[in-house]
Parts: sequence; structure tokens; C-alpha cells
Amino acid sequence: MTISLYNTASRRKEDLFPIDPPEIKMYVCGITPYDESHLGHARAYITFDVIKRYLVHAGYKVRHVQNITDIDDKIIAKAMQETGERTDLKQKCREIAEKYSASFFDAMDKLNVLRADVYPKATDHIPEMIDWIKGLEAKGIAYELPDGIYFSVGSFSDYGKLSGRRLDEQEEGGRVKEHKGKKNPFDFVLWKKAKEGEPSWPSPWGEGRPGWHIECSVMSTKYLGQQFDIHGGGLDLEFPHHENEIAQTESLTGKRPWVKYWLHNGFVTVNKEKMSKSLGNFFTLKDIFEKFDPMVIRFYILSTHYRSPINYSDAEMRGGAEAYDRVKQFLADLDFMLEKSPGSAPMVELNDIIEELQPYLLKFEAAMSDDFNSAGAIAALFEMIKYCRKTLDEGEDEKECLQYMRDTVATYFGHLGITFASAGEELDSALAALISERETARANKDFKRSDEIRDQLKGKGIILEDTPYGTKWSRS
Ligand SMILES: [Zn+2]
Ligand SMILES: [Zn+2]
Repeated sequence: MTISLYNTASRRKEDLFPIDPPEIKMYVCGITPYDESHLGHARAYITFDVIKRYLVHAGYKVRHVQNITDIDDKIIAKAMQETGERTDLKQKCREIAEKYSASFFDAMDKLNVLRADVYPKATDHIPEMIDWIKGLEAKGIAYELPDGIYFSVGSFSDYGKLSGRRLDEQEEGGRVKEHKGKKNPFDFVLWKKAKEGEPSWPSPWGEGRPGWHIECSVMSTKYLGQQFDIHGGGLDLEFPHHENEIAQTESLTGKRPWVKYWLHNGFVTVNKEKMSKSLGNFFTLKDIFEKFDPMVIRFYILSTHYRSPINYSDAEMRGGAEAYDRVKQFLADLDFMLEKSPGSAPMVELNDIIEELQPYLLKFEAAMSDDFNSAGAIAALFEMIKYCRKTLDEGEDEKECLQYMRDTVATYFGHLGITFASAGEELDSALAALISERETARANKDFKRSDEIRDQLKGKGIILEDTPYGTKWSRS
């Protein structure tokens, strides 16, 4: 099945033709580790994780690179705030970046986001960035001002091609703060000269640090080559960050297009408002993990198409949790029935169930191949569960058939990185022994003992349900 994907650069869906199949090279803009990760991070990295998983499922090999902006104004501000003075800020910045990077990886692991192949850090690539800026300077595209080296957007005729903005329109709008000496208000900094006490590295222009945009150009091309397939990030990065990345890279290498497909995930709102610290609706992932299973968050995020805006509220999350639990319950029910299953299905019957589930799986593939529509894919799996429930109600009980249903549902949710790890929870052996004693009592029509055990278990929060296959338990 051909995969189509929405390319921000062309504003339409295009069929995927990788530059060097079966490999797909993908760069995703990473974090600036100066604070705890929040929902916006969860959405972006779950989005590109699912895209990666699906490309691998479709037979591609994905090389995924994601930067860590470990030096930045916000990290420096935090370091100054924490030390209260300007002594050894470089060391303090390193500590802050390490602390919040570790916290980020911990959150991503909980959300079942697979690791990238490389996580290059800005501070490990300063010499390469200096070389790039020297190259741009040599071409007459970069110029020096008292506070740094700037990129001249007027020298790049394609400036605005990603975001669809035109320089003259932008100037009329006057949305960008005037900066003394800049040739164009949209010229951006490549190298910032250090103010006293700021962490800095030596360069031909004196002590300083790289600008944010240059690091993504330098590190993506270093690890993926001068042209690659996919560049991703949140919609908020489209302009100016990605526009500036294109301008620098295509100006320096002369190779166009630098990136074949630009992918952007939509915004996250909280209670229908933009997430912000001042509105008091800014939740870190750590906060949210205290209320909801990270897997429920993943499930909820993937229930919306990645380009659509998504809203977070406790009520909507509870709805997500209920849907997630329906799948979990289905798997637990099958596990239970499998234990009690009377026996083997004839081969022809197993083939029937395989054939009957096929249309739902094709629907899943069609949705995912259509710009990674995880919402449509999840809907197809729910239809499949509904169909399975119906066949169970009609008396399906052979082991192979049950096992096939279970494996298929778990495998396809697994393609989305959604797992149901605790579905087959085990009871501790003392409680399990009581349930088995009660089953014996029931078989012997000793209902007094059977009821005693039921009450005893109820006191321990275990609810029993007697079914044709035996006794099922669940936690109250
Ligand atoms: Zn970037
Ligand atoms: Zn069967």
C-alpha cells in the first residue's frame, strides 16, 4: 500500500518516495531542557514515534535523529536564577540540561516512545556550527553586528517557501521587533556574542554561542546527509525556526530541496485554551502521570489525527481511559476464556476467523497509509473488537480462534505503540487458592461455603462472576 503524507512545504498530501529506499532519514526537532516536559512534548514525540513505527511496519528502515538544545537563553536564565550570580554558569547550565533531559527520557519511556538513533547535543557540535557560519559569511550571506553574526534573509530568494509568507508582506505587517542594524527585520542570529559571565565558546568573532536555528541545520545534515526525507516538529516551529533552517542549509549546500517532506503536528489546548503558565493550565507530564496511566495519555493523543488540534481536560481524559479500558477488558476476557477453552478448532474454522478479521486490518492499514490517520486506525480496531465480541456471544470458544483474536488486537494496537501490559494481572496465590476452593464447593453444591468465600474475597476488593467457563474475578 502506498503511503501518502501531508507535506507542509506543498500544502498537500503526496505519495511517499524515499530518496534512498528502503532507508528513510528523519530529523525531529528536540527539546530545550530547561524545565519539565509537558503535553506539547508528549504530543509531538508520540506523533513522530507512531510515524516511525508505521514506516517500519511498512518495511522501511528509519534512521531517526533528534537534537537536544543544551545551550540556550532559557537555560542560562534558569542557571542565573538558581545560582543567583554569574559564576561558573557553564557548569550550572550543563547540570540543568542533564537534569531535565533525564526527566524527558523518563517521561518518554513511560509513554512508550522509542529512542532515536542519535541525540546530538548542541554543545558537542560548536566547531561544526562555526564552520557553517564561516561558510555563509564567505558567500556574503552572513554579516556582523556588535552583538552577533546575522543571516541575511534578503540573500535567499526562496525565503518564506515553507510557511507561505513573503518578506514584503511581513515587513508591512511589522510583527517583528526592529533590531538596530539589521538589514531586514527577519534576519536572524547565527552566533551570539557573549555578555559578561555568560557561558561561551571561542570563535573567529570572539567568545559566544550558536543561535538556535543553526544547530538543527548542522546536526541534521551531519547525521543524515545534505538531503534527507522527513523533517518534523510541532506546528509552532514552522515559522520562523524551520523557515530559517531551510534558508541557512540551502544557501550553504546549494542543494534543493534540503528536506523532501516537512511534517508538523497540531497544537494542544488545555480546557480549550492555549496552554500557558500565566493561565494556570500548564501541566507537566509528571503532574498528569499522577492522575492518568501514561498509556491512556498515548491512547488519547492518538485518537485524534496528528495535524488536528487536540484538547486536554480531565473529562476528556476520563473518556479516553474508558475506551482504553474497553480494549484491556476485551483482552482480559479472552485470556480468561483461553484458560477455560474446551479445545482445538478445526483448521477450516481458524481460517474463517482469519478471513473475517481481514477487512478490519485492511481498514487499519488504509487509515495509517493515509497520512498516518491513527484515529481512523483505532476506530477500525474497535469495529474489529465489536465483531469479535459478537462471535464470542454466538459461542465461539476454540483455543486457536480465541488466541488469534487476542494476538491480532494486541499486535495492531502494538503497531501504534499502545500496550495493555497489566491486562493479564495475576492474583496472589492465597486468593487464587480461595477461588479454586470455591469452584470445588460450587461443583459439590456446597453453596454455604461458596458464599462464604465470595464474601471473604469481596472484603479484599475482589469481585467474582460465575460464567459458563468458570469463575472470573476483577478488582472492585
Ligand atoms: Zn530544530
Ligand atoms: Zn472457532
